Amino acid sequence: MNIQSFDVTIIGGGMVGLALANALADSELKVAVIEGKTPSMTIAQEHEIRVSALSAASKNLLTNIGAWDYIAQNRHQPYSKMSVWEKDSFGKIAFDAASLKSNEQASLGAIVENSIIQQALWLAAEKADNITLFHPYHCQSIAMGERETWLTLVGANDDTKHLTQQLTSKLIVGADGANSWLRKQAEIGLTSWDYSHHALVATIETDMPHDNTARQIFSPDSILAFLPLNEPNLCSIVWSQLPDDAQELQACDEIEFNRRLTAAFDNRLGYCQVKSARGVFPLTMRYAQSFAKERIALIGDAAHTIHPLAGLGVNLGFLDAAALAQELLANHAAGKDIGAYKNLRHFERWRKSDAMQMIAGMEGFKQLFAGDNPLKKLVRDIGLVAVDKITPAKEVFIKHAMGLTGNLPQLSKSVLSKADS
Ligand SMILES: Cc1cc2nc3c(=O)[nH]c(=O)nc-3n(C[C@H](O)[C@H](O)[C@H](O)COP(=O)(O)OP(=O)(O)OC[C@H]3O[C@@H](n4cnc5c(N)ncnc54)[C@H](O)[C@@H]3O)c2cc1C
Repeated sequence: MNIQSFDVTIIGGGMVGLALANALADSELKVAVIEGKTPSMTIAQEHEIRVSALSAASKNLLTNIGAWDYIAQNRHQPYSKMSVWEKDSFGKIAFDAASLKSNEQASLGAIVENSIIQQALWLAAEKADNITLFHPYHCQSIAMGERETWLTLVGANDDTKHLTQQLTSKLIVGADGANSWLRKQAEIGLTSWDYSHHALVATIETDMPHDNTARQIFSPDSILAFLPLNEPNLCSIVWSQLPDDAQELQACDEIEFNRRLTAAFDNRLGYCQVKSARGVFPLTMRYAQSFAKERIALIGDAAHTIHPLAGLGVNLGFLDAAALAQELLANHAAGKDIGAYKNLRHFERWRKSDAMQMIAGMEGFKQLFAGDNPLKKLVRDIGLVAVDKITPAKEVFIKHAMGLTGNLPQLSKSVLSKADS
């Protein structure tokens, strides 16, 4: 069996795992990434239905780690405005990047297909001498030693299934998604609850152009977001609703779907026509009880999953990746053991507190808009209108939407010059 040694082994070459690998690129650390599915490097003609609303902080990170150019050269749509309102009420709020006093950014963020983000990060990782990509490989077993971990991999397709590899590492990072294999192996407990919502996603053509605006409407039982794509009349929707309603809308014929979608969206962009398959994803809150242990760290969906109503999941994961890279590089430079739990504690406290605030915030938002109690509705509508009218409060909201608040890792704060990086 082939045995190789690494400083950091990342399980999961999705968006977050690859972001961590690239944040460690060209350092003294030897990095392995294990990915179960080799990603396709072709860009399909049709837009993928899974997209992410990337914050300005995520764009800073992707630029600093050399992945943004690929995204910019391929499909993406910056958005400069956001509009949120409540169905059948006067409550509404609108943001415009141009209204920010300290406006260095022309946009609030960008909508990008997940596959394009992964491709950009994969290609960047392939260029780094200190990163080895193992794909398609699955993890078979893990053994913990005092100073290192032993991970056994097995090929994940017909061509590689007879191949095994053994990797030793000072630190193993779980970036292996919501059902993390590493989290289970490490016996890290999970706090979770069902949001009682499923998200229906699809690509939609609208009569009127989207005007680079991300829109979201809250109804008692559903939250519907229209995210602008890089054609003026094309949007990606995320429609969170009761599971039965989502299944019914996935199964109904296109004319019925278009009619119900147009009505649910208050006819805001005229008639809506579905242009893709309709995907449905159950939504669950998950929060790992520890984000780190001796020789183990968790990032991205392996550590937390939240309701997509504010499009924060991968943005939060990118902050985990940037924060962990920053800690590992500082600890390594100081001659400390990068896998020792005592040296991972600061990362864990930092990211747990951020994730917890987001989870609580999303829950508060979801509860506030759930149901049609008239008093609750009046209070939230007055709140929305008040924030809409008060400039300083609105500035705070805009900075939050851009992901530029809180204790940000260096790679996410701003675009660094070559001398800074
Ligand atoms: C409907 C919906 C809409 C969303 N919209 C947004 C949005 O607008 N903005 C936003 O920020 N977030 C959004 N999110 C959340 C976002 O999609 C996730 O947070 C993000 O995909 C998590 O990335 P990840 O890399 O942590 O995990 P994943 O994307 O799950 O990647 C995990 C990777 O690990 C690999 N893997 C898993 N197990 C193994 C193993 N044992 N061995 C080897 N490889 C393995 C998988 O193949 C995969 O490539 C949305 C989520 C949903 C459901």
